Amino acid sequence: MAGRLAILLLGTWLAAAPAGVQSPAAEPVERGTLPASWVTGRSCPETPPFRIHEYNADLFILRQSGCTNFEKPFLYLLFGERSALLVDTGAQKADVAGAVGQVIERWSARHGGDPVSLVVVHSHGHGDHIAGDAQFTSRANTTVVAASPEALTAFFRLTGWPETSASYSLSGRTIDIIPIPGHEPASIALYDRRTGLLLTGDTLYPGRLYVRDGAAFAASIQRLVAFTRDKPVAHILGAHIENTRTPYLDYPEGTTYQADEHALELGRAHLLELNDAVTQMRGPIERRILRDFTIWPLVRSAGP
Ligand SMILES: [Zn+2]
Ligand SMILES: [Zn+2]
Repeated sequence: MAGRLAILLLGTWLAAAPAGVQSPAAEPVERGTLPASWVTGRSCPETPPFRIHEYNADLFILRQSGCTNFEKPFLYLLFGERSALLVDTGAQKADVAGAVGQVIERWSARHGGDPVSLVVVHSHGHGDHIAGDAQFTSRANTTVVAASPEALTAFFRLTGWPETSASYSLSGRTIDIIPIPGHEPASIALYDRRTGLLLTGDTLYPGRLYVRDGAAFAASIQRLVAFTRDKPVAHILGAHIENTRTPYLDYPEGTTYQADEHALELGRAHLLELNDAVTQMRGPIERRILRDFTIWPLVRSAGP
């Protein structure tokens, strides 16, 4: 009986979707590509400070080279119709304004050469994500939003940090801003509705997820799970890679050249795995090594 029902259902499905015919439904997200490897810094004199990858025509990923700083952070540059949004300015010792300016010029040339205004925001306020800010403060047509809950609340018109998210229009491109304190008080996630990319900074990436405020972190992860429940998530992209391709194994802190590093991209399943682990702890966050990342509470110092 069950077998006959399955055959009947299969027959119905085949009739509805004949081989070779595309579904007329709209594409869920605008697609892009990621490189097979982001390895950088093998031979330093020849390595440029940033590797620039075109995910698609309107979204670029920049990775700072390990030759300039062991943190090797990832930066994201998204374009609306006539403006751009830069997420993070990198760690010290790199000409980030030069690299970003080069991408903006190329993009502008493809779009009639009009000037492009730039908004600079940060996944959070740690030094390896804001060190290049000074290079943008005097740039023409540029707004730098400070990495503080107050500045983010004012710029994105957030109501009730951190419980509420806000949507931001980058000249026609809608990006959701979701406050996720815990790693750092001004941590945010950005969700790009066009590509379905969720940018999570240092809160979720293939590496050591340092947790400074456990209660805030747990609540933030739950909010991210709820936020993504009814949305397409193409990739979850964080700000570092510290794990190797071998499950449960990370590189020691300070490694500049990672020949066999983990892929940058994670999926929503990783977010659910993180949420499960944190929820099971029922209280203080404990160090836990998972397949692709490690939850790592930071002990508060007794001093002021
Ligand atoms: Zn950080
Ligand atoms: Zn970082």
